[in-house]
Amino acid sequence: MRVHFWGTRGSLPASLKASQVRAKVIGALRAAQGKVFGDEHALAAFVDRELPFSIRGSYGGNSSCIEIRGGEDYVICDAGTGLRDFGNSLPGARGVFHIFLSHLHWDHIQGFPFFTPAYIPGNRIKIYGFHPGLEAAFATQQSPPFFPIPLPAMRAEISFHPLRVDEIYEFAGFQVRGARQHHPGDSYGYRFTKNGRSVVYSTDSEHKKEAECSNYAYLDFIRDTDLLIFDAQYTLLDAIGDKEDWGHSSNVIGVEMAVEAQVKRLCLFHHEHTYDDETFDELLADTRTYLKILSETSALEIYLAYDGLEIGI
Ligand SMILES: [Zn+2]
Ligand SMILES: [Zn+2]
Repeated sequence: MRVHFWGTRGSLPASLKASQVRAKVIGALRAAQGKVFGDEHALAAFVDRELPFSIRGSYGGNSSCIEIRGGEDYVICDAGTGLRDFGNSLPGARGVFHIFLSHLHWDHIQGFPFFTPAYIPGNRIKIYGFHPGLEAAFATQQSPPFFPIPLPAMRAEISFHPLRVDEIYEFAGFQVRGARQHHPGDSYGYRFTKNGRSVVYSTDSEHKKEAECSNYAYLDFIRDTDLLIFDAQYTLLDAIGDKEDWGHSSNVIGVEMAVEAQVKRLCLFHHEHTYDDETFDELLADTRTYLKILSETSALEIYLAYDGLEIGI
């Protein structure tokens, strides 16, 4: 099983500004001062090994969309703007696309009108979610005056499938179950299991005081998973300060619950749209430091998602 991240920002897409690109170029030139590169390979090796990710790359700007590979069909979680890049990576693709929705906030559905496979006759697109009004949200998004092409004009076969939290489903070769999460209007996490391996996709979820109890139900939902994709939009200060009750969690509570539930890999996700790449480098380093303070023996691996990251499990 492999997980590919197509969109990792929270709340709103966030593009790089010219001033930020300029700062990266200056940072790279400063680091290269006095060095001589014999050939292109030496230059690429310097970029890959000696420049921090915030200078040589970017965490990206698309809103939530991930792909889980290893099933019989295409499996996607959320239809944020990352869905456009996913669709464009498959020119002329034919097949069945399963799209699982965490909730219907705009940043999780706004990529769908630009999803090329939805315009190709013969493709089948199945959209799953726990919220009533699933189909109405997609139809409204493509109604006047918001968008010129109505949902029925997309030529793929598009169907909507309401789910229930107390059921375990089989889709695309995965066992799938959901869990309700604390978020304005509710959100739902998904656990996908195949051949003894599992991925939990858990975004737009605020964990409050009760998360510190060892019998907190969410711990069972994520227990022993190979990869937990976790809403860590906020720093600890954000989460307990003026952004309490906004529906998102911090990197700190993510580490604490991942350790408690024996998670193998934790991937921080749904990044704050106002933070820049340097801030994310620091957030990742701080999160790994916090793990060392919390548990000297934990083998938890920590990632910070970026558009284009792929994790194999
Ligand atoms: Zn969101
Ligand atoms: Zn939301």
